[in-house]
Amino acid sequence: MSKPLISRLSSDDVDFKSDLEALLAFESALDSGVQKAVSEIIADVRVRGDAAVLELTRRFDGARADSMAALEIPQADLQAALEGLASEQRAALEMACKRVRDYHERQIQPDWEMQEANGTRLGQRVTPLDRVGIYVPGGKASYPSSVLMNAMPAKVAGVQEIIMVTPTPEGERNPLVLAAAALAGVDRVFTIGGAQAVAALAYGTESIPAVDKIVGPGNAYVAEAKRRVFGRVGIDMVAGPSEVLVISDGSGDPDWVAMDLFAQAEHDEKAQSILLCPDAAYLARVEESITRLLATMPRADIIRTSLADRGALIHVRDMDEACEIANYIAAEHLELSVEDPEALLPKIRHAGAIFVGHWSVEALGDYCAGPNHVLPTGRSARFSSPLGVYDFQKRTSVIRISRQGAAELAPVAATLAYGEGLQAHARSAEYRK
Ligand code: NAD
Repeated sequence: MSKPLISRLSSDDVDFKSDLEALLAFESALDSGVQKAVSEIIADVRVRGDAAVLELTRRFDGARADSMAALEIPQADLQAALEGLASEQRAALEMACKRVRDYHERQIQPDWEMQEANGTRLGQRVTPLDRVGIYVPGGKASYPSSVLMNAMPAKVAGVQEIIMVTPTPEGERNPLVLAAAALAGVDRVFTIGGAQAVAALAYGTESIPAVDKIVGPGNAYVAEAKRRVFGRVGIDMVAGPSEVLVISDGSGDPDWVAMDLFAQAEHDEKAQSILLCPDAAYLARVEESITRLLATMPRADIIRTSLADRGALIHVRDMDEACEIANYIAAEHLELSVEDPEALLPKIRHAGAIFVGHWSVEALGDYCAGPNHVLPTGRSARFSSPLGVYDFQKRTSVIRISRQGAAELAPVAATLAYGEGLQAHARSAEYRK
């Protein structure tokens, strides 16, 4: 029997728990081949700098450049790309940029301070990072939207210098990507990618300045490289393949749900699209839509592999169980494709982004709704958040102790310090009594 277009599971199946685990399992960044390749690339870039980056870019991306200078795109070219856009594309990019900026401006965190009666003031100061690197994937497709989603929160946070890296296979530069970089105010753009780009940003080379943090999605090589340079620099997250989870109550057009699953699956073969629904007849209608619509999709091959390997239509007992499973999956994107989404929303605790109701579709969020599309994947929405302004800011404690405050605190500190056997701490405090 040939493999079905998409798996059908039911929460009543005896093996459901292990089937769900198997469906969610994804360990590509732990692939030993990727690990070995990445550690060699990072070591090479650390030792040989520009020469290694140039050589690896020629090898992996087919670059014909013979110097690093040829791999940097001058600001004038970014501006020219923006000015050369068709008016419809420019208007779309500008609108997306504005909406992303407006949304992220709400995330700015103020400094704060508290004052005690004795004049002591304690506070927290929020400051932007100095220089960040943004990784914009470009191996198999170009993502102008990722330029905006990575650069705008950094801009809003007040980062002084934004260095963007993006691979351009065979030297093919995507004008929309360059235009987005111009619009977002990116300072420098290098056409490099993969682990070599991450290593160059983390350690710096003769041409590429070392940054303080590297953000942005990418393939397994990028994810593994980011994991390895963490500590030397900050990273936003270690991203896996993209995912969508749709919860349906059987209302709405099944073609819409099928296309939402496709929209995720067309990213790449490892992307994941799952539907949870308590209505078996509706699940069958979605499956019929998938079969009928797949033939019309230009990226049908990628969608077919993604759905067959990692997709699933899951029959659940009821909507409460759907929410329980959704919280377990903690999907990157969660669509509540139901009549009364507000009733469901409070029951959802874990998801990167929640799309509420039939009109709130992921595709709008991917490009232009405003919230960030760089989201936690692989169940990491249990403990992490969308990329945001807060990723480009850090907090510093500010301590102003008055004379009277010091007199009150010194005996407390000294007692604790003597208890720890730290004499210098105790005496340092006691001088202030
Ligand atoms: P990429 O830019 O991440 O990777 C391309 C680079 O991979 C190449 O430049 C090369 O250096 C390296 N590479 C490829 N094969 C290699 C090998 N055998 N050895 C060493 N290095 C090698 O582009 P991609 O491959 O198209 O992947 C992009 C990923 O980003 C996809 O998984 C996509 O789904 C994801 N993505 C996620 C989001 C998001 O917001 N979550 C947005 C856009 C893209």
